[in-house]
Amino acid sequence: MPPIYLDHAATTPLDRRVREAMEPYLTDVFGNPSSIHRQGQQARMAVDGSRETVAWMLGAAATEIVFTGGGTEADNAAIYGVAWANRDRGRHIVTSAIEHEAVLEASAYLESQHDFEVSRVMPGSEGIVSVADIEAALRPDTVLVSVMYANNEIGTIQPVGDIGLLCRSRGVLFHVDAVQAVGTIPVDVGRDTIDLLSLSAHKFYGPKGVGALYVRSGIHWWPSQLGGGQERRRRSGTENVAGIVGMAKALSLACESMDETSTRIVELRNHLIEAACSAVPEIGLNGDPDRRLPGNANLRFPGVQGESMVTALDTLGIMVSTGSACASGSVEPSHVLRALGDSNAEARSAVRVTIGRQNTREEVDSAVRSIVEVYRRLRDSGVARPGMLQPVAASR
Ligand code: PLP
Repeated sequence: MPPIYLDHAATTPLDRRVREAMEPYLTDVFGNPSSIHRQGQQARMAVDGSRETVAWMLGAAATEIVFTGGGTEADNAAIYGVAWANRDRGRHIVTSAIEHEAVLEASAYLESQHDFEVSRVMPGSEGIVSVADIEAALRPDTVLVSVMYANNEIGTIQPVGDIGLLCRSRGVLFHVDAVQAVGTIPVDVGRDTIDLLSLSAHKFYGPKGVGALYVRSGIHWWPSQLGGGQERRRRSGTENVAGIVGMAKALSLACESMDETSTRIVELRNHLIEAACSAVPEIGLNGDPDRRLPGNANLRFPGVQGESMVTALDTLGIMVSTGSACASGSVEPSHVLRALGDSNAEARSAVRVTIGRQNTREEVDSAVRSIVEVYRRLRDSGVARPGMLQPVAASR
């Protein structure tokens, strides 16, 4: 049996049609979009056309899209940009305890180095942040709320529309890390009352190292990358033309088939969860069963360490993860599962299975058989129990 890739929250394969769209910009049309000759202007047209496409897919205006080098850069730019520009109004930021490190670390940096205060709102046990808790955290000096659209580990979808309305009514800027949501579920910055939004192409079958930040027109925000003044002075640096073209193509393909793809993936995901949980009753699902991304099944395997499951499954050709790609390889328990109330041992016993658009029912069935077999073997052998791990230095 060929290997089965079930780690689409970490990254997705490049769509063949996206590669074809990018190809001319890696070869013949190599100009710098800032050059005024025809090579440059061809590249400029490609970048501007891609900007129109990305904007249209998000319900934004083209002038509100700033291309970046991925999701992390977009998150950092949003947080530093709002904090710096508005620091005379206040130095308080509200975020959630289950954000991606790109948001958590950027806000922690402002806290430790620049006298900001950060309130990290805890989610409920199902992994959803409540609007009332965000409201309770707001203060007169709050300048920014940053809450993700959907969580990268457990896939739970946050009430961003309601949080957006709350922030607008209080005059607080609202940033959404939508890296896991864009291209997977419908996202509309107007409907959800969002001021800044981050996305990343490699999560929706586009290339790695390219993303975008939506910045609502008229908001007070400062760029953090300075230089040649590209992107209307909002993100200096020569544009990644092929990457930008690929991202726009990938996003339009993803949005075109979103309904159909998500129905099929939800069926596969529900089948996987039911099959695994009914084969071994101790296996459970982390996070809200319904308000979650179509492809996400974050499963817990009591008494067994998630890393051991991932390694053993890899030897059988099944590629899954323990959670966020950035944290894997470390034995630190997931900060997301800890925030849901899990003990360290419980938080280390999770495996994230994320289904993509190329997966089949046969692959899911085969993966479930391997998951169940590996779990029984590890559990019964008594090795690799989470409690056996050495505690690591509390670096975050
Ligand atoms: N935010 C979320 C929710 C993510 O899942 C990721 C990547 O896993 C990022 C931000 C970072 O995006 P990138 O890999 O493009 O830097």
